[in-house]
Amino acid sequence: MIKAHKIRLNPTPEQAVYFAKAAGTARFVWNWALAEWNRQYEAGEKPTAFKLKKQFNEIRREQFPWTWEVTKNASDQPFLDLGKAFTAFFEGLKNGKRKGRPTFKSKKRSKASFYLANDQFELGDHRIWIPKLGWVNMAENLRFQGKVSGARITKTADWWFVSITVEMRHAEKADPRTPAVGIDVGLNRLATLSTGEGYENQAFLRTALGKLRQANKRLHRRVKGSKNREKARWQVARLHYRITCLRDDVLHKLTTRIASCYGIIGIEDLNLKGLLKNRRLSRSFSDAALGKLLNLLTSKVEQRGGQVIKVDRFFPSSKTCHCCGWKWEEMELSDRTFICQNKSCAYYQFAQDRDHNAALCILCEALRLIGLIDQT
Ligand SMILES: [Zn+2]
Repeated sequence: MIKAHKIRLNPTPEQAVYFAKAAGTARFVWNWALAEWNRQYEAGEKPTAFKLKKQFNEIRREQFPWTWEVTKNASDQPFLDLGKAFTAFFEGLKNGKRKGRPTFKSKKRSKASFYLANDQFELGDHRIWIPKLGWVNMAENLRFQGKVSGARITKTADWWFVSITVEMRHAEKADPRTPAVGIDVGLNRLATLSTGEGYENQAFLRTALGKLRQANKRLHRRVKGSKNREKARWQVARLHYRITCLRDDVLHKLTTRIASCYGIIGIEDLNLKGLLKNRRLSRSFSDAALGKLLNLLTSKVEQRGGQVIKVDRFFPSSKTCHCCGWKWEEMELSDRTFICQNKSCAYYQFAQDRDHNAALCILCEALRLIGLIDQT
């Protein structure tokens, strides 16, 4: 199992200049290789990452001697990355899963980053050693134990981070006795479990989003190309980053808890695209980042040997009584309680929380899908 740990770096101003230089070198080499690839491809040749790298090295001493000023990975890795990107692109054309064709990296819009192979750095206590640079302070130590396979240094807003990938020896295993759970994800509550437990959408996210709106307005009032506009742009980038962190933190905690407590998890496969068409709902939806929740949950549960069962999004979980299966066809989005009208049901005229009932329905449906219980 491979895990990555992203750690904030505290470089000195000189070190930050080095980072920017290395990232600039990596971007330059990528763009050079891509342009050359396209040119050769159009000329009917068969470019490969290996051939391009050789070609680059032949002219490097004369034309690009400055590429030696930073770690050699800044000019090695882009060839490998480009080769991989083209392989994925061509495979996508074959099997129908279209992947974008590799594009040029722009200084403004692309994320500054460069790679370090595991022989190009060394970890110390709260610091990382990088050739031609020395020790750089890290905000925390590497959290995982295992073989360090590589690292990538990236810039987000005006901070630098190192993302270290580690190959872990053992996967965490779930207790086989862990029970099953159904989860209803929604707008009002981020998640409701079939046990009745609820996770609220965090209010601080809303506050941060308010600030983001203000910062965006400020940005658009500033004159293009001015220093103040640049400042406002950084502020927006920082807020974006902060909101992502806050949201990811919530999602990570929630999914880790669910994955460590339950072995079988039923959840609705949401049609995010359809829901995002509704603009009013879209904000709370992107807040909750349901797609990310599904991805995180699936990977964490599967790592532990559990199973995530996605229930068809057309399954009417909110409108169905979890006990008897009676359907309340006229139920509206604003109805917060579900009341079963089936006289022979144990829940007849009993007010059930809408999301809790839905979570129970999802659990039943998930269990039915894996054949643990019979539908009849
Ligand atoms: Zn009922």
